[in-house]
Amino acid sequence: MLKKLGVCVLALLMLLGGVVALLANQYPALPEQLNLNSPAAAESPVAQHGVRALFLGTSSFVWTDGKTQWLLDGFFSRPPLAQVMFSRLTVNEDRVNTTLNRAFKELGRPKEFSAVFVAHSHYDHALDAPYIVKNQPGARLYGSASTRQIALGQQVPADQIGLLNIPQDIPVGDFTIRVLGSAHAPTGFTGGNNAEPVTLPAHALAFKEGMSYSFVVYHRNTGAQPIALIQPSAGYVPGQNAGLKVPVVFLGTGGLGKLDEDYAARYWKEMVTDTGAKTVYLVHWDDFTLPLMKGGELDALRPMPKLVDHFDRTVTRLQAFARRDGVSLTILQAWKKVNF
Ligand SMILES: [Zn+2]
Repeated sequence: MLKKLGVCVLALLMLLGGVVALLANQYPALPEQLNLNSPAAAESPVAQHGVRALFLGTSSFVWTDGKTQWLLDGFFSRPPLAQVMFSRLTVNEDRVNTTLNRAFKELGRPKEFSAVFVAHSHYDHALDAPYIVKNQPGARLYGSASTRQIALGQQVPADQIGLLNIPQDIPVGDFTIRVLGSAHAPTGFTGGNNAEPVTLPAHALAFKEGMSYSFVVYHRNTGAQPIALIQPSAGYVPGQNAGLKVPVVFLGTGGLGKLDEDYAARYWKEMVTDTGAKTVYLVHWDDFTLPLMKGGELDALRPMPKLVDHFDRTVTRLQAFARRDGVSLTILQAWKKVNF
């Protein structure tokens, strides 16, 4: 009897595993008219102010003005799903180096940067930043106290770590990055602080969120007017952008498709309607268990599988808001440059 029960449970588990594997492989279709799908597709108009941002999946970017470079997150390891679920994570140094080398080549700049900002301490933002900073003498890693513990766990010298206060302006060459307090998308994986150094390998859940930030990018060439708002996670603190007027928003959408329409409307209002932005690029929409490059070639991003998110629903909703507000909406592909 017991043996029979065991076989039944095993069969049920296998069936469940099969269903999960199937769902994890179902991807929503991307609406073509919004999708800059090919990495070789046309770039945004020529830079007026000499500033460019190269998007690298999730909320990872390299920004340059031709003199100074800085990164947001720099999450390039992108470990596969099975590793995230059943194993512990570490930096894929080969992937990080290959991606960084290619990114700087795309920008025509030497591989030098002054700062890496970390949006919050989940692994899909904070895993690789310490490794990247450690290998760039003089660069600083900026993040929360929770991110600081991830950096200490990877032996980043304390004088290369900058603890963020909010709000705070951090000068990086002729850029100024204004750091605002924000919130994570309410996904169920939020909250908590790393109170001790996070040593690798570490489980995905060992990377506690800490504080979540938004970033307003200013540059000397555009005077007092900001260039863009970067909202890495689809969360917000009501009024976090009070008084801010900005032309471009990089809008994080991770998890937004599983939240209700009312939440999406409030999020859009805080980030886009209230800031007067007329150009929105969607970021953090991609399945970050897939690599940015395959066989040495640039690869296009795919949306999260339906099991995790409903990006098609997100796009339908945001398209309606964008039409209403006269906003241009683009799903930003990895390896695309946005010019300012
Ligand atoms: Zn997160």
